[in-house]
Amino acid sequence: MSAPNIETIVSLAKRRGFVFPSSEIYGGLASAWDYGPLGVELCNNVKQAWWRWMVYERDDMEGLDSSIILNRLVWKYSGHEDTFSDPLVDCRDCNSRLRADKLGYLPSDEELRGQLAGDAIAKAIRERRLGCPNCGAKNLTEPRPFNLMFRTHVGAAAEDDPSSLVYLRPETAQGIFINFANVLTSSRRKLPFGIAQIGKSFRNEVTPGNFIFRTREFEQMEMEYFVRPGEDEQVHQEWIDSCFNWFTSLGISASNLRLYEQPKEELAHYAKRTVDVQYRFFPEREEEERQWDELMGIANRSDFDLRTHSKKPEDAEGRRLNPDSTEDLSYFDEATKERFYPYVIEPAAGVNRTVLSVLMDAYSEKTNDKGEARVILKLHPTLSPIKAAILPLAKNKPEIVGMAKAIKRFLQPVLRAVYDDTGGIGKLYARQDEIGTPLCVTVDHQSLEDEAVTVRDRDTWEQERVKVSELQEYLLNRLRA
Ligand code: ATP
Repeated sequence: MSAPNIETIVSLAKRRGFVFPSSEIYGGLASAWDYGPLGVELCNNVKQAWWRWMVYERDDMEGLDSSIILNRLVWKYSGHEDTFSDPLVDCRDCNSRLRADKLGYLPSDEELRGQLAGDAIAKAIRERRLGCPNCGAKNLTEPRPFNLMFRTHVGAAAEDDPSSLVYLRPETAQGIFINFANVLTSSRRKLPFGIAQIGKSFRNEVTPGNFIFRTREFEQMEMEYFVRPGEDEQVHQEWIDSCFNWFTSLGISASNLRLYEQPKEELAHYAKRTVDVQYRFFPEREEEERQWDELMGIANRSDFDLRTHSKKPEDAEGRRLNPDSTEDLSYFDEATKERFYPYVIEPAAGVNRTVLSVLMDAYSEKTNDKGEARVILKLHPTLSPIKAAILPLAKNKPEIVGMAKAIKRFLQPVLRAVYDDTGGIGKLYARQDEIGTPLCVTVDHQSLEDEAVTVRDRDTWEQERVKVSELQEYLLNRLRA
């Protein structure tokens, strides 16, 4: 079982302190969300799991944390100033502002012949074959490009001084490309190797929404893997398979994941091939094809990035293609004595979309012996915000309370544990089940005599008696299993 829709998660997330609507006391801010006490733990656990898998468990990886605000020229040569835009249309009847490519119109093969999907959609709008989903009127304006980069100014310069203009990064990838030579030299790496980075990105999305699925501020986990041209296709396929498996290793059901091969008309200008890992974010939609959306993109970016940021390449007349760069980002292969621009394979995932997919996938309901429906969040223990809750059976017995608090303090250096005595035991268990805590430890009257506690499992509700002296080791083993 998984969540029937995103709304189920929105209310659970607010009630239990995973995610709150941002700036709520001032009326909110559209599509901005704040991560609460449990949400921040879940995000951190997702990022740690990714970093461990991507960086620590491999021999060919380095990490990086680059600036959010970069020299504007980075975005000029990456192509973002010219092409990082969405096609915007307005409805002349109800004044809605929409993305032309999200109107739900899939051009037929016949229509696509010889033209891009965007052009076929523009033609359909012009011929009034497409309507506005909000009011139904077939009265849309021509699509026009809307650049998604947030602009701001550095220093005390006047706002209209063009030399002070900078952008908030719309992806973390460019920070990696411009540091390629720095990392290569300082780490003495040889191809193939990768550079991984986690960090915030910003896009002034035309139509944000669906909770944390599409927001204007979000976090990405990106890795750029540098390979010899010719080895790119096979390495790309290996990363596609490995990324899909990473999501299932987090406990996401394979039946809610699929790979989507981007058709030629959808590919970014630099991409040779891109495959998305999609999650079933919208199970409530009748049409199966509309249930899926992107969780992660895995692109073969060719040698576009290192080439475009290099001072070296020249056109036929000997003019430098990039007169501003001071560095050549090509690679010299000692073995073959050849110099070339490496190809780049890029697995790029969103932290927030991963959080949403693990929450949706972990959601389940179970009926207790009183016939009441209980929510159980079957999160993978690695991701659970709290690993163990220490609960006293009687909160008016100082010896029991004292022992429970001592156990919590003894566990907290090695795992995230909490103490709770604000309800009866049934209620305390139900609360922990609902936030995905895999194990509850109960201290009862008997514990004072036999120095043992009851460990209860979130998913099976089975209980086991464990000696306090063996508890730490026992819990760690259970969490690893
Ligand atoms: P989409 O087509 O949904 O706009 P994209 O193809 O532009 O996404 P990429 O540029 O490939 O996205 O970014 C990599 C990942 O970053 C995405 O797979 C997604 O998980 C995440 N991401 C991108 N844009 C957003 C956003 N506005 N809000 C939340 N996550 C995002």
